[in-house]
Amino acid sequence: MKNLLILSIGLMLMASCTGNNNKLSVTKVDNTEMQNNKKVLTAEEQSKLTPDSVIKILKKGNEAFANNNLTVNNSMERVQDAVQGQYPEAIVLSCIDSRVPVEDIFQCGIGDIFVARVAGNIVDTDILGSMEYACKESGSKLVVVMGHSHCGAVKSAVNDVKLGNITELLSKIMPAINQAKVNFKGDTTVANSEFLDAVCRANVGLMVSEVRKDSPVLKEMEDKGEIKIVGAIYDLETGKVEFLENI
Ligand SMILES: [Zn+2]
Repeated sequence: MKNLLILSIGLMLMASCTGNNNKLSVTKVDNTEMQNNKKVLTAEEQSKLTPDSVIKILKKGNEAFANNNLTVNNSMERVQDAVQGQYPEAIVLSCIDSRVPVEDIFQCGIGDIFVARVAGNIVDTDILGSMEYACKESGSKLVVVMGHSHCGAVKSAVNDVKLGNITELLSKIMPAINQAKVNFKGDTTVANSEFLDAVCRANVGLMVSEVRKDSPVLKEMEDKGEIKIVGAIYDLETGKVEFLENI
């Protein structure tokens, strides 16, 4: 009853905040299927997972999130259980954008996933090392490179912003801009959201390729079927994640 009241208040607040742009469709969610209150993953549970089963779990969690089940109920019990060790199912590389709460959008709690974050979800040696640690040392089955709509880093790169260390960071998105321009008909400025989407997708694709090219460790694991390396795009408007599994 209390949860229902909180949900109702939350919906009212959301409706007042989003006004006419509210594209959120609220459907009834079966809470018994959620990862809510689930205990921390154990080594045994992790060992039974496959790359495809992890993709399924993340898709299901995101479906719940997009259907307005927005947060996972972590508990102090779970906090303390996690002290014994961690056996996360995946590592997600995301942009730093404050509107992309990675654990939440997959309905994940403490101990479920590794999250690496850097503006523009770009890959470098440190990120690759983190991914290798997640998969080779900690047993994760999936690497996800996740871009998102309305990405400020993508917009800044398209605008060719030069400022301090941001200049070098944005230079890593330039190949995606060049690739997106090859087949793109129309306006290739930030004014065109379709072009920004094309750059975002090209960037995710190139970063996935870079993971395979610059990490023989992960490439070998993928070739053996031990892990999968996939792309994804988070849509700020709907809360939905589109998986790009064959890139
Ligand atoms: Zn971003």
